[in-house]
Amino acid sequence: DPRLKAISEAIRVIPNFPKPGIMFQDITTLLLDHNAFKHTIDIFVDRYRDMDISVVAGVEARGFMFGPSIALAIGAKFVPLRKPRKLPGEVISESYVLEYGTDSLEMHVGAVRPGDRALIIDDLVATGGTLFAAINLLERSGAEVTECACVIGLPIVKERFRSNGKRLYFLVEPR
Ligand code: IMP
Repeated sequence: DPRLKAISEAIRVIPNFPKPGIMFQDITTLLLDHNAFKHTIDIFVDRYRDMDISVVAGVEARGFMFGPSIALAIGAKFVPLRKPRKLPGEVISESYVLEYGTDSLEMHVGAVRPGDRALIIDDLVATGGTLFAAINLLERSGAEVTECACVIGLPIVKERFRSNGKRLYFLVEPR
């Protein structure tokens, strides 16, 4: 798909952010490039429009930049999965392990219902820890997680998903 090259080239790499040794994949330059941004949304919408998805759940913060456009186009609701103490209503929470310490994601109680079919979206998957926490939140609420989707991913993490019976889809590898 020639669109993938345009998407990859629109992602900026910033070395040593947020700390030395990290090659940060910056999708804000993808958002600046109308064609590349549109290709990104189009590819996701084409993939998910006939999968009977009722909820798109976006991971704070960059999942919020892709998820709502996809949700509107495929006729699903959008649910934000947020960092702790951001959501005002009653939440359920799921912790996950980071390189140093832990973090968690929260979701409003009642946003997702038993029988919902979910797509989870973020910009990038590295270890998969964030997305597995997101999967747990959705499944605890009775949803079936159809797939997790990212713009950028590492092929090796697909194996981790497969061995846990989950599906991972991404468009391009890190630059
Ligand atoms: P994981 O939990 O190890 O898979 O890390 C994925 C999370 O870290 C996602 O929420 C990403 O937004 C964030 N992340 C890690 N590295 C990068 C990067 O280079 N660019 C953008 N986000 C990143």
